[in-house]
Amino acid sequence: MKAAVLTGVDTPLETRDDIEIAAPGPGEVRIKVVASGVCHSDLSVQNGTIPLPTPIVLGHEGAGIVEELGEGVTSVAVGDHVVLSFVPACGECYQCRHDQAYICEKAAAQAAGGLLDMTTRLTSGGAPLHQMACLGTYGNHAIVPEISMVKIPDDVPLDVAALIGCGVLTGVGAALNTASIRPGDTVAVIGCGGVGLNVIQGARIAGAGKIIAIDMFDSKLEMAKEFGATDTINAGEGDPVGAVFALNEGRGADVAFEVIGLQATIEQAINTARAGGEVVLVGVPRMDVNLTLNAAFTFLYLPKTIKGCWYGSSNVRTDVPKLLELWKSGELKLKELISKEISVDQVNEAFADMQAGTVARSVIVHQH
Ligand SMILES: [Zn+2]
Ligand SMILES: [Zn+2]
Repeated sequence: MKAAVLTGVDTPLETRDDIEIAAPGPGEVRIKVVASGVCHSDLSVQNGTIPLPTPIVLGHEGAGIVEELGEGVTSVAVGDHVVLSFVPACGECYQCRHDQAYICEKAAAQAAGGLLDMTTRLTSGGAPLHQMACLGTYGNHAIVPEISMVKIPDDVPLDVAALIGCGVLTGVGAALNTASIRPGDTVAVIGCGGVGLNVIQGARIAGAGKIIAIDMFDSKLEMAKEFGATDTINAGEGDPVGAVFALNEGRGADVAFEVIGLQATIEQAINTARAGGEVVLVGVPRMDVNLTLNAAFTFLYLPKTIKGCWYGSSNVRTDVPKLLELWKSGELKLKELISKEISVDQVNEAFADMQAGTVARSVIVHQH
């Protein structure tokens, strides 16, 4: 099989076509990966923001077709089309039973860069090759846990379906599940990359009255308007917090989202929320980011609610079908998120495009 491999932090990805893939073990499924989004979190592994062992097949936002079943697999059949979930959802652990499948306890294995038993099914040149998020969708095939996929109808194009696996579940979920947006609310979104655009369309679907998109790139602010932003602020041209207050009668946002992960922008998001407002933190910070907050004002005199957010607080089993319904009804834009379809050999260029802010999503379409 062929895959784009990260061999070490801050090195370009290498395309290898000599990768050997083992048979699926018990509870595992071999997937023909058809499409994979190129997500900022892949870049975050490359630059060390998300520490994972190398060499590793990156990619955690994908869709494909079931090719082979390991022992005991009953929830999918060969030929099924599936969206891959970058968090396994076992349905049985403490968190899953408490309606928090997005932090399923089985996901703890992911830090080791392998499957649920912490070992990988891939080798290259005789050495083990890790898999990001129990997946590794930059490969044209993958062995993944049965609990890391959701069956979808065959008529959903798999390039569109792939995006649901991370960016759409995370962004739209942050707006519809994590936040409590009321119709007519003023919402601010700091960071308008692939996930931020989905927060914006989630806020639109939730009925927000004013959606203020904030970014340093005018190119991303233009895209933000297509997904539902009513106002835009280029944060490079002055104080974005003051600009949000000016747009809402000096009050601040009812709900503020941070979708970057920097100390400065997280603090801006908190300051952007009105008294009694809500802040949802979606961005991926480096491990050493700490915040400076004034406790009296943040939590007492301007009592704000600050919510953490992982995977859009989603339950993939119910949210993937729900998102596909929203897409079918025309409310959720998916195809429009795809700026470029590329081959796996072009993934380094896709990373450069992402850093330059010129794309919503590049999608790798694998060859078989
Ligand atoms: Zn992602
Ligand atoms: Zn679980």
